[in-house]
Amino acid sequence: MSEMSIYIDGKYYPKAMAKVSVYDHGLLYGDGIFEGIRIYDGNIYRLNSHLERLYESAKTIMLTIPMSIGEMKEACVATVKKNGLRDAYIRLMVTRGVGDLGLDPRKCPKATVIIIVDSIKMFPPEYYTKGLEVATVPTTRNMSDALNPKIKSLNYLNNVMAKLEANNMGVPEGLLLSAQGYVTEGTGDNIFIIKDGILQTPPTYDGALAGITRSSIVYMSKDLGYKCEKKTLTRHDLYNAEECFLTGTAAELIPVVKIDGRIIGTGKPGPIFKKLLTEFRKLTKTDGYQVYGKGKKK
Ligand code: PMP
Repeated sequence: MSEMSIYIDGKYYPKAMAKVSVYDHGLLYGDGIFEGIRIYDGNIYRLNSHLERLYESAKTIMLTIPMSIGEMKEACVATVKKNGLRDAYIRLMVTRGVGDLGLDPRKCPKATVIIIVDSIKMFPPEYYTKGLEVATVPTTRNMSDALNPKIKSLNYLNNVMAKLEANNMGVPEGLLLSAQGYVTEGTGDNIFIIKDGILQTPPTYDGALAGITRSSIVYMSKDLGYKCEKKTLTRHDLYNAEECFLTGTAAELIPVVKIDGRIIGTGKPGPIFKKLLTEFRKLTKTDGYQVYGKGKKK
């Protein structure tokens, strides 16, 4: 592959030269936000939705992004074009920027904008066909009044802890519960179950990110004639589901066949999951911004 070009504050750098200051508060305090975005056959999937979420996260943490949403969109498209990739992953980060060693954000005059376009693999391919075994982990999801999981912040230690615990249990992914014991999400993905033919996913107020893949599934399932509900779920609901799957930009749609040692449904990826996956594959090539063709608004 030819040398990658990474965007930092309006300039491109080769991977080995793409660096930020050790005084950047993104590094010192995890003070910043990010998005993970996929490109499918030259289509930046739901780019506008990702940018809207980024600017919402910025508003909550009072981070001034030094460019408009339109300029950010152009920067993402230009970085994809510069790297010439048709199927890839965009990691867009905005950090608080360079400050001093204290955490006061007022000491950081300008946010740092970074755009990486590269490939990403979350899980080995066999999990997509055979299904994943997951486990609920001891670490609970951040409480909304401490650090709202709707903010896609650069501080992912809560999720990293959950991943470590899943690793220690010998399963590829962990599920985080809320402090009240309700199901929230995976370490980098949302969760759906199917019960009595109805799709159910935890509401964001139980402690989940408003996932863009999640929202695609909500709309898509309705188009396919299924009912889809945002509903508080317990582990009992998971164990007794007919089907279960995770959704995320990096993970895409991945079936779950075992949770905490309980076999889910038949123990194989279910029929509704398979239908949704087929539709999702179609949607990813059309719903978004066509980098190498005519740009679409969506
Ligand atoms: N939850 C968490 C904690 C995540 O990091 C992600 C990945 N961004 C998701 C859910 C899935 O969100 P999306 O579908 O927008 O990628």
